[in-house]
Formats: sequence, structure tokens, C-alpha cells
Amino acid sequence: MPEKVKVSCPNCGATNNYPLGFSGKTVVCGRCKHPLPEPGSVLELSAGQASGFFQNSKLPILVDFFSQTCAPCHMMHPVVKGFAKRRAGEIMVVRINVDLYPQVAAEFRVQGVPTFVILHKGYERGRTSGALPEADFALWVASKI
Ligand SMILES: [Zn+2]
Repeated sequence: MPEKVKVSCPNCGATNNYPLGFSGKTVVCGRCKHPLPEPGSVLELSAGQASGFFQNSKLPILVDFFSQTCAPCHMMHPVVKGFAKRRAGEIMVVRINVDLYPQVAAEFRVQGVPTFVILHKGYERGRTSGALPEADFALWVASKI
């Protein structure tokens, strides 16, 4: 049996079992047939996709609000990517570019970047701002989900 990892569909939020070993092939959502992201990837969503996903995902979500022009955001990006890979199947990771989607940042009252918000079933479970060492970051997320 191939190993399977849970992913939330970015289109409808349904939890899908994504078979590992399908790299390079397209796996689609069992409910809406939208292509699924590979487990462990960091999703870059538009404002419209993000609001639906935040409400519908059964898996918890870590949202990374970032800006291209912010140095601490660039420092945190490899930390967030590594975290997404290690916690594949347990939490979905989404990046929101606040310059492209200021309405999403405003909705979450994001004052500065980077800001990290943990959501589950549409509710905020925690948030932190600024760069963190990798171990502290992982501990902070683990304490919220
Ligand atoms: Zn779907």
C-alpha cells in the first residue's frame, strides 16, 4: 500500500488522502476535482482562494503574511518551507503577499510583516510577529494546534 498524506483542497477545503510517490503527476480533489497541492508545499493563494480555504479547511492552517521587501520575511521563508515539509499531513501552510492582497492583511488586522497566524475551522488559534529561530517557531506552532 502506498503511504498517504492528508491535504486540504485549496478550492473546496475537503480533506484528501494524497498518495505519496505521485510526484510529477496531478492528483485531484475527490470532491471537486481541483488539482491538489503536493503535501508539504507552501501554498500561495489569492485573496479569493484564501478566504474560502480559511473557512473550509479541516486541517489547521499556518498563514505567513509576508512582503517581498521585508528582510525578516526572507529570513523566515526557508524556516516556513522546512516546517511545511516536516509537518505535511498535519497542517497546511499558506503564504499571503500583503502587497498583492492588502485586503486579506486588513481582515486579519496584520500590523507588520512577517506575521504568522494559526487558523482552525475559521477560528484564530494564535499569532506572532517578527522573525523567530527555527526551533522556537516550531514550538510556537506546536503549542497552538
Ligand atoms: Zn476540492
